Amino acid sequence: MSLRLGTKISRPPKGEHYDTLIVGGGPAGFSAAIYASRFLLKSVVVSEDIGGQLNLTDVVDDYPATLSIKASELVSRFRDHAEKLFKVPVYEFISVKKFDKIEDEFHVVGSNGLDVYSKTIILAVGSKRRKLNVPGEDTFTGKGVSYCSICDAPLYKGKDSVIVVGGGDAALEGALLLSGYVKKVYLVHRRDQFRAKPFYVNQVLNRKNIEILYNSFVTQIKGDNFVKSAVVLNKDGKEKEIDIDGIFIEIGFEPPKDWYQSLGLETDEAGYIKVDDWMRTNIPGVFAAGDATSKWKGFRQIVTAAASGSIAAYSAYTYLTEKSSR
Ligand code: NAP
Repeated sequence: MSLRLGTKISRPPKGEHYDTLIVGGGPAGFSAAIYASRFLLKSVVVSEDIGGQLNLTDVVDDYPATLSIKASELVSRFRDHAEKLFKVPVYEFISVKKFDKIEDEFHVVGSNGLDVYSKTIILAVGSKRRKLNVPGEDTFTGKGVSYCSICDAPLYKGKDSVIVVGGGDAALEGALLLSGYVKKVYLVHRRDQFRAKPFYVNQVLNRKNIEILYNSFVTQIKGDNFVKSAVVLNKDGKEKEIDIDGIFIEIGFEPPKDWYQSLGLETDEAGYIKVDDWMRTNIPGVFAAGDATSKWKGFRQIVTAAASGSIAAYSAYTYLTEKSSR
C-alpha cells in the first residue's frame, strides 16, 4: 500500500510509554497485537505497509475458517480484530529506525516523528519476495503476476499455460503443483543447473507438461487487463514471446535487514532474525515473529506467521511478569 499524496499521517503521541511496541502490520504483527491486548499489555502497532505480503496476493483460500477470501479483506479483518475489537492503536506509513535500551525501556525512534518508549518490542517486519524488476511486473502484480505458487495455483485451474521463474525449491515445488492445474508449465531458470533438492528436480524432469527453459531470463511481461505473454531471452541471445495466463516469480526472499542488523540482533547467514521456540531474539525484551525470522523458512504461510505472532506476545507477557515479580 503506497502513500497517496495528501494522506494525513498520524503517529503515536511523542514520548508515550508502552508495554509492547509491535513493528509490522501483517498477520504476525496483528496476531501479536490481539494476544498482547488479551494479556492486558498496553500495545501499539506501527507499520510501513499494512498487509505486508498479503498485498501481493489476490484470493486466500488456505487460512483456516475463512474459506475463500480476498487478501485485502483478510488484511482488514486482521486489522479490525486488533484495532476495533481489542483497541490496539495502529499507525501506518511509519518505519522504525532504531531503538536504544534506557533503563527498563527501549527508546524507539522512526520515520514521521516516531518517538516513544516501550518495555518490549515485537518485530514482525516480514520479508520481501525478491522481484525480477522487469517491465510489466508491477503493472500486473495480482493480475497474473504472482509471487506464491502455493497460494495462487488453484486459481489457474484449467488454464493453458503459465511460466514459473526460478531454480530453487519454491520454483520447482510451484511448477510441480501448477502442472496439476494447468495444461503447460514453462520453468524459466537463469542457469543450467537447479539449486532445488534432487527430490524436486527428479520429479520436474519427469513431468510431461513441464518444459524447462535453461539459461533463460524473463525480460518483459505483457498484457492488457491481465497477463497475456512474457518475453524470454536465452544466453545465446535468442528471444521468444510465450503466450501465458500467468507468471509465478519464485526467486527467493530478502529480509528487510538494513536497519535491524545494526542494532545487534543476531541473524542467520541470509539476514533473518534468529529466534528460539518462544520467538525470543538474542536481545532480552525483543521478540520477533513471522517471515522476518529464521523459523519455518521453507514454509511461509499466513497461519504460521499468525501463530508466531501470538507466541511472541505471550513471551513478551511472560518476560514482563517475570521481571515485575523479581
Ligand atoms: P532460493 O533457494 O534462494 O532460490 C532462488 C532461485 O531463484 C535460485 O535458483 C536463483 O538462481 C533464482 N534467482 C534469484 N534471483 C534471481 C533473479 N533476479 N532472476 C532470476 N532468477 C533468480 O529461494 P526459494 O526457492 O524461494 O527457497 C527459499 C528457502 O525456502 C530455501 O531455503 C528453500 O530450501 C526453502 N524451501 C523449501 C521448500 C521445501 O523443502 N518444501 C519449498 C520452498 C522453499 P540461482 O540458482 O542461479 O542462484
